[in-house]
Amino acid sequence: MIEEHVLPRLAAAGVRLVQVARERRHVTKAGDGVVILDDSRAPTQLYTDGACTLYDEMVEAGTIPQSGNRHCSIHAKGDALDPVIARLTRGQPYRHVMGFEAGERRRAEKDAGYNTDLRTGVYPLIEWGWFRDDAVAYIDSVIQAEVGKSACTFCPFAFANMTSRREVFARYTDDPGVGAQTLLMEHLALALNPAQGLVGGRRLVDMIRDQKLAGVLDSFDQLLSEQMHAVYDVRRILRPRKSDPAKLGNAARSVRARMRGTREDMDAILARLAAEERAQGVLEREVGEDGIVRLYKHRRDSTFPTIERHFVVAPALAIAKEHTRFDQWWEDALAAGATARVAA
Ligand code: SF4
Repeated sequence: MIEEHVLPRLAAAGVRLVQVARERRHVTKAGDGVVILDDSRAPTQLYTDGACTLYDEMVEAGTIPQSGNRHCSIHAKGDALDPVIARLTRGQPYRHVMGFEAGERRRAEKDAGYNTDLRTGVYPLIEWGWFRDDAVAYIDSVIQAEVGKSACTFCPFAFANMTSRREVFARYTDDPGVGAQTLLMEHLALALNPAQGLVGGRRLVDMIRDQKLAGVLDSFDQLLSEQMHAVYDVRRILRPRKSDPAKLGNAARSVRARMRGTREDMDAILARLAAEERAQGVLEREVGEDGIVRLYKHRRDSTFPTIERHFVVAPALAIAKEHTRFDQWWEDALAAGATARVAA
């Protein structure tokens, strides 16, 4: 849609379009790690992927974009754009035009908090009083077509209400592979943390099942069967909030892949582990509401600090991740008597 309708208009008006991306997960403020994909006054191609996409970042971390914040947007978009904007504007004041609609005043207010002596956020749709429907109607009047949202086909905000959910499900039905990729991301995140779920904590896979989107589910099964799998060892230390020790303050997580292989082989290893260890009373097998089998070594308790450890089979896409001091923290938590129910 962009290549057909937007790029030709930019070219006709001589607007310079700079397309940028991250080539690695962390980029510097000076722009190291940012790549210019295209810089043209006559663009013809839209680049939707760079070397390091948000999808890659999420699955490598074994997580999903969170609907409670927009950190994904800050990292995947802002971090790549800011150094380029700074270079283009060369220390001169500039306006940064954002397409927030009239129903998104709070987002605009938050964005204005990032204004500086040089940057001024501008929100024309809000100035005009245009809601999303007005913008969609205008676009339709110009190109006689609707441009769906978002470029991130797994965006948790796109599931925020029934109307936008319908749009996403229609998109998945048209292209089941896109829905399958999203379910793969959610599945991995769930395996490592059963509390994850793309729809504000609820599981997208359940909604896809409720909607009977068989094509998407078949495509997901196929995608899953093609993945190399791993047996993950997941540990968590949950610490109390300083202001209220009864509440969770923060959590540190360690994810290690203990072995890799086919899904069948990894399932067999987990089953053997369950049988052997259960005899000794050190692991507790549980089939979660999400249908995923987890073997618990430690269960979290309701008081903090507490610890948790489980073994699970999932696609071998997440990379080992833990703070360099995690093992020490873990030992300290055990020594300090961090409450945790050891499976028995
Ligand atoms: S579109 Fe959604 S998932 Fe993508 S960066 Fe923005 S908030 Fe995150």
